[in-house]
Amino acid sequence: MSANPYPLGLLLDGRRVVVVGGGAVATRRVPALLDAGADVLLVAPELTPALQARVDAGRLRWAPRRFVPEDLDGAWLVQVAIDDPIAAAAVSAVADERRIFCVRADDRAAATAWTPAVTRQGPVTVAVLGGGDPRRAMSVRDAIRDLLAARPAFDESAPPRSRADAATDTTGAAGTTGGRVALVGSGPGDPELITVKGWRLLTEADVVVADRLVPGLLLDELRPDVELVDASKIPYGPSRAQEEINQILVDRALAGKVVVRLKGGDPYVFGRGGEELLACAEAGVPVTVVPGVTSSIAAPAAAGIPVTHRGVAHEFTVVSGHVAPDSPASLVRWDALAGLRGTLVILMGLKNLAAITETLIAHGRPPGTPAAVVQEATTGAQRVLRSTLDAVAADASAADLRPPAVVVVGDVVGALDV
Ligand code: SAH
Repeated sequence: MSANPYPLGLLLDGRRVVVVGGGAVATRRVPALLDAGADVLLVAPELTPALQARVDAGRLRWAPRRFVPEDLDGAWLVQVAIDDPIAAAAVSAVADERRIFCVRADDRAAATAWTPAVTRQGPVTVAVLGGGDPRRAMSVRDAIRDLLAARPAFDESAPPRSRADAATDTTGAAGTTGGRVALVGSGPGDPELITVKGWRLLTEADVVVADRLVPGLLLDELRPDVELVDASKIPYGPSRAQEEINQILVDRALAGKVVVRLKGGDPYVFGRGGEELLACAEAGVPVTVVPGVTSSIAAPAAAGIPVTHRGVAHEFTVVSGHVAPDSPASLVRWDALAGLRGTLVILMGLKNLAAITETLIAHGRPPGTPAAVVQEATTGAQRVLRSTLDAVAADASAADLRPPAVVVVGDVVGALDV
């Protein structure tokens, strides 16, 4: 580098950014581009499941093939996230010709723009360039992040750190190697809704095993040497995949790694956290649980619906709707729930919503009871639909609402309307 880079904040809202590549680097880069409002075109023959999920949700466009020069038509910026240097150089050449800045994951020296190490706090964005040394940039960024969070520097040598940790820790083989697992709730979607403790553990992790629903921006800030395991990417059916996840947690911890199992919302609310805790405990791996802000309460709140309200509801019930009410596999007494007056919060309930609402009405819940659906709560893509119990299923499908979404039934739905 002959000259210093010139720092800029790019305002990408609505502007085309092309990402070439659909692997791990692209998976880490895309969330920040979407957060900046960029109109992202992803060019790659194959995608990771995390990227696929964003494509399915309509957050970005995907050209399922190799790069062609026309892909840069109308682009303001291109991010090359492939490691084939010849293919990457070909993209660079087209970008240069068209005077489009080009970030190269494979070769910083050949790039015309560098992505800084970033930390965000509310409206403040701190971006650090390390003069060609990404590690220096990360460590300066980490120091600034710690200052911003105004918390004492952590002591790497001393797990566990609190009496609450000690209480849930089990001791055993991994205890002697320093390996351990933390089951951390990431909150419902807004990256600022992780707990301070969850965040601290995330910054200390050697390995992060993340669910599809965890906020992408949290992963965006991981050090590049952190091993990121995308749990949604594990093949096989759901039960075998869970065994694989348990095994990864145990193996890494026994190898002395600090492992964070990052889960959407709260780890124990329909999150299979209990199974992971048991697997670790059986293997003698010390394990800590860090509760998270659950979507079952946060999604209604984000839509202006309090799950309880004085004089309106003195109870709320959280129930999974993933099994149809008439299925022999159902563990839910829908007939009994229909008799409650309070708030009913249904997770994973969109698919079976018609059957659920009919069952509730058939067993006595008034058809006119206010109901709402909150999709992708606390994220930039949040959608809220208000309706009544008898109409909410049809209204949700007419509005093309999709998972993840929470359904709220009860008079609290209108309680804060003025
Ligand atoms: N442990 C999670 C729930 C896991 S089950 C928690 O405590 O939040 C997954 C279901 O959670 C989704 O199908 C949806 O019903 C709900 N969910 C998770 N995140 C959501 C969000 N941001 N907005 C709306 N619903 C969400």
